[in-house]
Amino acid sequence: MKVSEILAGSKKAFPSLEIVPPLRGLTKDELLESIEPFMEFSPRYINVTSHRDEFEYRQEADGSFTRHLIRNRISETTVCAAIMSRYDVEVVPHLICGGSTAEEIESKLDNLAFLGINNIVALRGDCISGEKRFSPTPGGYRYASELVEGIRSYQGSSTYRRSRGLEADDRFFCIGVGAYPEKHFEAPNIETDIANLKRKVDAGADYIITQMFFDNKVYYDFVEKCREAGITVPIIPGLKPLSTYKQLSVIPEAFSLDIPVELTREMTKAKDNKEALYRIGTEWCTMQCKDLIAHGVPAVHFYTMGKSRNITEILRECF
Ligand code: FAD
Repeated sequence: MKVSEILAGSKKAFPSLEIVPPLRGLTKDELLESIEPFMEFSPRYINVTSHRDEFEYRQEADGSFTRHLIRNRISETTVCAAIMSRYDVEVVPHLICGGSTAEEIESKLDNLAFLGINNIVALRGDCISGEKRFSPTPGGYRYASELVEGIRSYQGSSTYRRSRGLEADDRFFCIGVGAYPEKHFEAPNIETDIANLKRKVDAGADYIITQMFFDNKVYYDFVEKCREAGITVPIIPGLKPLSTYKQLSVIPEAFSLDIPVELTREMTKAKDNKEALYRIGTEWCTMQCKDLIAHGVPAVHFYTMGKSRNITEILRECF
């Protein structure tokens, strides 16, 4: 089932869960064990993030340098297939522009269609280490809006559909896109960023998932601005519970967002007490989640980042 159909048919908020593919070397059983705790909540779908291949230069015996591809993680498509082999749950792979040509993206879409996966979150991706700014792959897409257009046009002409003698279906994939209530770090202002978000919706995105935020007012104001700008699709809020003192500096830097003074103060007071930090972060996120549900959000998206204990506690309290 498509996420758009789940959203349209759902009368109350449900949790959506995002996982990160395991590092190479881990087994399918280890991956499935890590998501097993979520299954108690019968998630409607599970998002699987996508990661770029990295390159490293190694010096050879003759002093020259050679370029080597480093694939740290199992691919999102393989992880989706592994989840589908065990659980009756929809999977939503993320697809990024970075690192692929348009033809390579088409091949990924063929693989997803082959597996019967018709949900995608389309993103640009970030730059790779060593780059200061994102640079598109030659023959690839520059912005997520172009990727959304590419996915929509693929559907009418794909190798897969042609080879099966199927008619063009430009709505085969349900497409989600990302948004930033505190503005994407490259955008000059929130208004321009929202205008760029609208390009993704106009190109065919069915719904939006936001970056994490720690103050719900930021999300409510953002949704209001999006509606004023003519964006009408569902906007799913993204949450992540904090659990360590270090995250107070790492998360704002990595995701270009603010952590409220009150939460910062509480975590700073408890900075040497692991369990207290965990509790403060979990309670804050539970409070955010309950408030979002009370405000009628369609779903709440959790960035699980390989952690299940705090997320399952929050789900048990809120859903
Ligand atoms: P875009 O929508 O392309 O926007 C990027 C920047 O370009 C913005 O500043 C925007 O304002 C600007 N822009 C857009 N269109 C135009 C235009 N036509 N002209 C000028 N400027 C323009 N990253 C991963 O690598 N893997 C993942 O799985 C992943 N999952 C994510 C899930 C969610 C829900 C979110 C919110 C983010 C995720 N990211 C992921 C991070 C994301 O890839 C980065 O934040 C990236 O820097 C931007 O991606 P985007 O799709 O929002 O880009």
